Formats: sequence, structure tokens, C-alpha cells
Amino acid sequence: MRIGHGFDAHAHGGDRVLRLGGVELPGAPGVRAHSDGDVVLHALMDALLGAAAAGDLGELFPSGDERWRGADSGDLLREVLALLRARGWRPANVDVTVVAQQARIAPHRAAMAANIARLLGIDADRVGVKATTTDGLGALGRGEGVAAHAVALLEACP
Ligand code: MG
Repeated sequence: MRIGHGFDAHAHGGDRVLRLGGVELPGAPGVRAHSDGDVVLHALMDALLGAAAAGDLGELFPSGDERWRGADSGDLLREVLALLRARGWRPANVDVTVVAQQARIAPHRAAMAANIARLLGIDADRVGVKATTTDGLGALGRGEGVAAHAVALLEACP
């Protein structure tokens, strides 16, 4: 087995609807990003890549590359999973913490876990989704953006 960690943050702004774990949160402030700005899936992909020592998201999908402009992070995740499978790994379980002062995560938590499970091809009881604020501390606490931490455990494919 292998374990990996990922982190991502994006500043609020722009006119795109906020997406976390592939789920849209209408009414929450959106983020400025080259892709869809889904910090949950971005942190998750870095955790998966980190567990396999397979580089990182920026290396795989450079933000200067026009192919990834407005990219659906679900599609990028499918590419990451294919890369892991080629190396003999599949996700066993994952755990995510969203750090958001403004967006209310609780009403969307189950949908995010279900969607992440679907994308990963694992049961929803292997996907942890948690949320916290920084209690007003720092840039995230001032509501300037949203961030996510993720850990992922890989197991060898049979
Ligand atoms: Mg990102």
C-alpha cells in the first residue's frame, strides 16, 4: 500500500460557479482558475499522484497548456487513475478536508462523497469529506478563497 497527501487553494473571483468534488455550489463565491478550479479534486489528484510518486498535477496538466483551459477536473482525475492503473495501483480510500469561510459545505457533503466515489470507482464509505473554517484566521479566514487538503491510500491492483 502507498499513502499520499495533496493540497490546493484558489482565490475567490471570476464568474464561474464554485465546484467542489465535482459538485456545483450555486450561491457560493466562485474561484479564479485556469481549469474549473475544483480544489477538492485538485488536492485529491495530487494525493493520488503523490502516493504513487508519480509527480504532481502541475506537471501532468500545465496551466500554460490551452488543452486544460476550463477543463473538467473529473476528466483530469480519470487520466490520473489511468496513469496509476498502468503502474499497478488503485485507490483504496481517500479523505478530504475543505477549508472554507464563506461556502457552506455541510448541505453538499453527501453529494461530494458520492461523486468522488463514483469517479474513483470505490464505495462511498471509502470517501471522507470534512469541512472546517480557520475561525477567521488568515486569507482563508477572511474569505479570500477556498482550499482543500487530501490524503489517499493506494493498493496494488490484482
Ligand atoms: Mg488548483
